[in-house]
Amino acid sequence: MNIILIGIQGSGKGTQAKLLTKKYGWKHITTGEIFRENINQKTNLGLQAKSYIEKGELVPDSIVYEIVSDAIQKANNGFILDGFPRNLEQTEFLLENFKIDKVVLLELSDEKAIERVMARVNCDSCGKDYNLLFSKPKNDGICDNCGGKIVRRKDDNEIAIKKRIEKFHLETEKAIDYFTEKKLVVKIDVSKGINEILSEIIAKIEQ
Ligand code: AMP
Repeated sequence: MNIILIGIQGSGKGTQAKLLTKKYGWKHITTGEIFRENINQKTNLGLQAKSYIEKGELVPDSIVYEIVSDAIQKANNGFILDGFPRNLEQTEFLLENFKIDKVVLLELSDEKAIERVMARVNCDSCGKDYNLLFSKPKNDGICDNCGGKIVRRKDDNEIAIKKRIEKFHLETEKAIDYFTEKKLVVKIDVSKGINEILSEIIAKIEQ
């Protein structure tokens, strides 16, 4: 199956995508992560994307299409898209070129989204994710997994988050309307626990 996880920042797309990938063996394609890896490795792509990302702005479509097409072509056993598409143009590009079976919409209020993103941190060595609200590391600032340093993403500051949420309402909601017209959307309330959300997603995509 080819699935899209769509939702406001902090709605848990990454967490659920990782769990679904583990269950079904699909490829997890997350555009934000691909950009962050390229920025860390100082590649050409990373250099092009860096200034947009740090300001909370969208990277130009032409750059995003290249990385998404490349990743999808390497996915032989289905994929989960997380972070793409984010606007109507990207949605049209995707549906013209690739088959999508379901779009899972993770629903959360803006207030809760800001609260969760501000509490989001990860290990700068092994990448393990934590949330200071509900999945803190055992020792403050130190990764449970590898003893690495716990850090916050540079674009997880209040100004950039508010800008990303505004972009979500302005641009990504048009993509959601388009998918809804095509009857691809299933809605999930994400104010519950991680495992409950996962079960609900599984039930709805297997329907
Ligand atoms: P995320 O980790 O999904 O919040 O993405 C981090 C940043 O990467 C975003 O704020 C954008 O600057 C950029 N980005 C990720 N996915 C896309 C996309 N589909 N289109 C444009 N920019 C993107």
